[in-house]
Amino acid sequence: MTPTGRFAPSPSGRMHLGNVYAALMSWLYARAQGGRWLIRIEDLDAMRCPRHFADEIIDDLRWLGLESDGEILYQSERADIYLEAFNKLSAQGLVYDCFCSRADLRASSAPHSSDGTPIYSGTCRLLTPEQKAELLKTRRPAQRVHLPDEISEFKDFTYGVQQCNLLKDCGDFVVRRADGVFAYQLAVTVDDALSGVTEVVRGCDLMPSAHLQIFLYKKLGYNVPAFRHLPLLTAPDGRRLSKRDDDTNMGYLRQHYTPNQVLGIIMNAAGKCLKGEELSLDDCLKLVIAECRNEDRSI
Ligand code: GLU
Repeated sequence: MTPTGRFAPSPSGRMHLGNVYAALMSWLYARAQGGRWLIRIEDLDAMRCPRHFADEIIDDLRWLGLESDGEILYQSERADIYLEAFNKLSAQGLVYDCFCSRADLRASSAPHSSDGTPIYSGTCRLLTPEQKAELLKTRRPAQRVHLPDEISEFKDFTYGVQQCNLLKDCGDFVVRRADGVFAYQLAVTVDDALSGVTEVVRGCDLMPSAHLQIFLYKKLGYNVPAFRHLPLLTAPDGRRLSKRDDDTNMGYLRQHYTPNQVLGIIMNAAGKCLKGEELSLDDCLKLVIAECRNEDRSI
């Protein structure tokens, strides 16, 4: 299998340094194995993701020298493919209707998972057919996947072995929203699997999602990829990076620096080179190849 990496931005604004860091590292780890690299635009919620944001992201990546080795996928165009996977899960009895509104979820005193999302209490899992029929008269349900009370474990290439109890620490999660739009966890799993992605490289804020995605990989009969979550970069003054910060977004960076200076800034923030160094993509690649040489790639 050709080693394959990917970058999967949500086009909700101009990329900031943290996004570009994820893009660059996913490209470098793929290339360090002689592999290919893909771009996928995660615009599931097409209303909030105007096409010009995606165009800007692709242009910013090209400016740095990062180009997709395959056709760029747009999730907003792939609902039929997600539906097939959704039907496979339904056929296994894994999916149920959930009528809880955002307000219901907020009001419940459920504990929160490590990424801050409330752990779903399972209320709608227990509905009788009569209660469901009654609710269907006035509400459109979302659909959730029913998780088992089981330990999920995987080895992350940066952080080592990760463990959680699927039901207690993550909780049943939405695979299709009430408005019919398929949810992130399902789309990302289907797309990574069908694109032949072998190593998922992304920010560590998505670590808890990996457990849910691995569950879906197995239920859908796909090969599970390797995961490498990245520490989140902070701005030089310690701030968490945000698309709203002007001085770390790509518009600002392109105005004030050359591509090699931006690559140097990212590699420095990641602790991989000295401050003020300018690096070509090739220089960055050499650093990562040296770093990976002794890596244990068993998963
Ligand atoms: N679209 C997600 C984001 O921009 C990343 C998804 C992923 O890499 O799995 O945060």
